[in-house]
Amino acid sequence: MAETRIGVIGCAGRMGRMLVADIVATEGCALAGGVARPGAACIGQDIGELAGVGRLGIAVGESADQLLRNSDVAVDFTTVAATAEHAALAASLGKPIVIGTTGLSAAEESEVRAAAAKIPVVLAANTSLGINLLLGLVAQVAQRLGPDWDIEIVEMHHKGKVDSPSGTALALGRAAAAARGVSLEEVAVRGRDGITGPRPPGAIGFAALRGGDAVGDHHVVFAGAGERLELVHRATNRAIYAKGAVRAALWLKGQPAGLYGMKEVLGL
Ligand code: NAD
Repeated sequence: MAETRIGVIGCAGRMGRMLVADIVATEGCALAGGVARPGAACIGQDIGELAGVGRLGIAVGESADQLLRNSDVAVDFTTVAATAEHAALAASLGKPIVIGTTGLSAAEESEVRAAAAKIPVVLAANTSLGINLLLGLVAQVAQRLGPDWDIEIVEMHHKGKVDSPSGTALALGRAAAAARGVSLEEVAVRGRDGITGPRPPGAIGFAALRGGDAVGDHHVVFAGAGERLELVHRATNRAIYAKGAVRAALWLKGQPAGLYGMKEVLGL
């Protein structure tokens, strides 16, 4: 079977370098190339050397348009503004795209939805297998325990993370809210400071910790009267996200236009 040519948008980033390493190590994949932020110092450097996997003879580019044309599918882990542009570009060129960027606003998410009307798109705030199983467990527990159990979601990430709470924490909150038949926007309490008053019944609380090189911890607490149930996931290596994203890219090629998540990719 022909190899799937995958292009990495944001190939100089923490995730981009992991993606390059995973693509070259995965059977059935070929690296179509990679682009960095236009004007970035690494443009022209060897993409394999940048990713720490040795020379690949492919230079880091700066044209997402050209990269998309040369790819069967693209993977984008960049910034919210860049991602929205790339989704529109992929749609105009008819190329499938996996989006891992988190923190998209409602407007940016609707740009991604508009692109997904024309091309297949995977939008996943967390591409790890463990977190995607956790999403299902959280929904199940939220439904079984009912609204008299208070839900709090605590996450910790490295000091370079720019959005808060994490996209994964919000996805966990959405899973719990949906299982209770409410929308997260109605019940979310994002951080507390000062005299906040007692906890509103049915609230889903969020707390975000930032520090060091923490890859990503998520802790979902169900607090009842006299007992607590806690579900925890700890990522210790970001290679898990790259593996999931590459799996999503392989799955996405050949799918009809539409917006998909890891649930569909992993068949959960
Ligand atoms: P990073 O800052 O290390 O990398 C982002 C890269 O994108 C940078 O190198 C930046 O220069 C580049 N970039 C910005 N604009 C660009 C453009 N127009 N074209 C090409 N490249 C551009 O960040 P990171 O840790 O790699 O994370 C990137 C995103 O992925 C964040 O939103 C993060 O939250 C998310 N993330 C998602 C998952 C997941 O499982 N889905 C896992 C980890 C991180």
